[in-house]
Amino acid sequence: MLEDIQQTARAFDSDLASANGAREIDEVRVRYFGRKAGLIPALFTRLKEVPKEQKREIGDALNKLRDRAEEALKEKTARLVTEKVEHPLDVTLPGRAPRLGHLHPTTLVRRELEEIFVEMGYSLDPGPEVETDWYNFEALNFTPDHPARDMQDTFFLDVDQLLLRTHTSNVQIRSMERFKPPLRVLSCGRVYRRDEITMRKSPVFHQAEGFLVDKGIHIGHLRATLEQFIKRLFGSDLAMRMRPSYFPFTEPSAEVDMSCVFCRGKGCNTCSFTGWMEILGSGMIHPQVLRNVGIDPDVWSGFAFGFGLDRAAMIKYDIPNIRTLFENDVRVLQQF
Ligand SMILES: [Zn+2]
Repeated sequence: MLEDIQQTARAFDSDLASANGAREIDEVRVRYFGRKAGLIPALFTRLKEVPKEQKREIGDALNKLRDRAEEALKEKTARLVTEKVEHPLDVTLPGRAPRLGHLHPTTLVRRELEEIFVEMGYSLDPGPEVETDWYNFEALNFTPDHPARDMQDTFFLDVDQLLLRTHTSNVQIRSMERFKPPLRVLSCGRVYRRDEITMRKSPVFHQAEGFLVDKGIHIGHLRATLEQFIKRLFGSDLAMRMRPSYFPFTEPSAEVDMSCVFCRGKGCNTCSFTGWMEILGSGMIHPQVLRNVGIDPDVWSGFAFGFGLDRAAMIKYDIPNIRTLFENDVRVLQQF
């Protein structure tokens, strides 16, 4: 029995010495003094079994153990409190880093794109989102009966025949009106169309539009510019191809495909096993558009291209649903 008391005393000393903080000290208290399974009360219970002649000696040892343990617990708890008061602020501790926010994937793509084109000498001009028919359609050579003007596609505002721009191409007209060529402008911003919300479509989305006007500009310049930016934004191993197309404000016009970024051109589900994905629309600025803003098409020529920033972000970050980009779910944003 005496042996057990000594062993318990040693165990207590070592347990208390390694206890750090109020919670661990309390755990030691429960282990040795707990009502149900406390080690010291258990020893007191066994006092009954001790032969009469030893009772006094063992009782004394037990009392000594209990008093000493209680005192030690009290002292260690008190020291903890004093330490806290004496050193309320430890200036030697490393600082806590502020929690940083995350940029939206569309913003990341926009910034990267802007960087690429600023390096190529382009200026940035977001342009207005509320527009007149002239800047959004007429000056861009959309005939009055063009289907894109249809009520189903355009959000018209009640006041002064204004509308929400359906593309960033309005910036072409506004920039060419305001500044004399040569011109290089990139415009990124929100555009609006009366579309249903689906996996790929949203009534508000982001577009980027770039155009250049100078002397002697031909389609080779357009191709070189697009190749440069596709390789930098999506990967230097990607190929690019142009297919004839039609837009009212460019002539000739071309749809541009790049190698599928998921299979690198080998063919997969996403690209319907063609190895290509459509990425943007482009063309040489229509002479009539230049005339509309007072630029002589016999002296100047230029190219323009436009594409969806949200779609670019979806491709770049493998996001299958455009709605993900508009829901502002912090759990999504935290991944970027
Ligand atoms: Zn593919």
